[in-house]
Amino acid sequence: MVRAATIPAPKRPVEVREYPRPDLEDGAALLRTLFSEVCGTDLHLQQGLLAETPYPLIPGHSTVGILEEVRGDVRDVQGRPLNPGDVVTFLDVHATCGRCWFCLVAKASTRCPERKVYGITYGADDGLLGGWSEYVYLKPGVRIIRLPEFLAPRTVIGGGCGLPTALHAVERSDVLLGQTVLVQGTGPVGLSAIALSRLRGPYRIIAIGAPRGRLEAARAMGADLCLDLDATTVAERRAAVLNATDGRGVDVAIEATGDPLAIPEGLDLLRDNGTYTVVGQYTDHGPVELNPHVQINKKHVDIRGVWGIDYSHLHRAVLLQERYNDRFRWEKLITHEFDLDGANEAIESVRSGEAIKAVIRPWPAE
Ligand SMILES: [Zn+2]
Ligand SMILES: [Zn+2]
Repeated sequence: MVRAATIPAPKRPVEVREYPRPDLEDGAALLRTLFSEVCGTDLHLQQGLLAETPYPLIPGHSTVGILEEVRGDVRDVQGRPLNPGDVVTFLDVHATCGRCWFCLVAKASTRCPERKVYGITYGADDGLLGGWSEYVYLKPGVRIIRLPEFLAPRTVIGGGCGLPTALHAVERSDVLLGQTVLVQGTGPVGLSAIALSRLRGPYRIIAIGAPRGRLEAARAMGADLCLDLDATTVAERRAAVLNATDGRGVDVAIEATGDPLAIPEGLDLLRDNGTYTVVGQYTDHGPVELNPHVQINKKHVDIRGVWGIDYSHLHRAVLLQERYNDRFRWEKLITHEFDLDGANEAIESVRSGEAIKAVIRPWPAE
């Protein structure tokens, strides 16, 4: 039997359930989990805030492990065979169809209606398709990446889902050399957005976030000016940002907060004709008041949304970790580790903001 932490229904505590060890179909693989991430989305799944979630659900959409079994011919994107013993991660997004209007015409596969996501839109009735489990069933067609030799599993999970999401957001934002970037939010997405913006060669990066531990992490990732959300008013933050930008506002702002109120504030901190990218509103927290004339039309701004990631974002995130982890040390973002029985505490550590990054480790350390 395989033990997996399972959300039985919305707003119910996570419980560890046992499932039969699956037989592999041709082209599938079985992953022995080393680490699986606990992110804000998992908290929202437990609270029942995502529409159409299939409960019971095994959460965990960002996972690193060791291939235990491989059935048939399973290869990575470069055609190299994947074998038992390989240390890998995989793209949680599965079954984008490659033949629908969004896949083919819009070339926006993150909006493909066939798209399924491990730990989010695949439920426990579909199989062992979440990472908070001793084993994860990697269906045929799941995109698996073997980790480079000197990239530690802990580093990869320290980046977690936030890193490729931030990569997508930074690219959508077209950060140019010498620009000033504002990152709103210092959770995992915001922290990686700071790091990746730094790689783009900005003049200055400003971060707004809380609590203090996360602001220290923001500074370590490359933020030049950190504004404490808990210790400043909206007016004080506005004064600080205008002061740092010759009174104009920032060139680019990336929202990674999860709070709708961040949007009007961020638009006010952006210069005229700047770019505003919204990546932090993955869950529906309701509407917010904007003045479209003042904050959008007259300001002549470019507003962009970012939904999810595709394989390219994860692939390049792994390469960037191999190349730049000496500088950013993603594994240091992990502040809390739990076994499967600690899943409720893990969720609480994320909800309270106490954890920068919490991870589930289903097996005892070896
Ligand atoms: Zn996530
Ligand atoms: Zn499609």
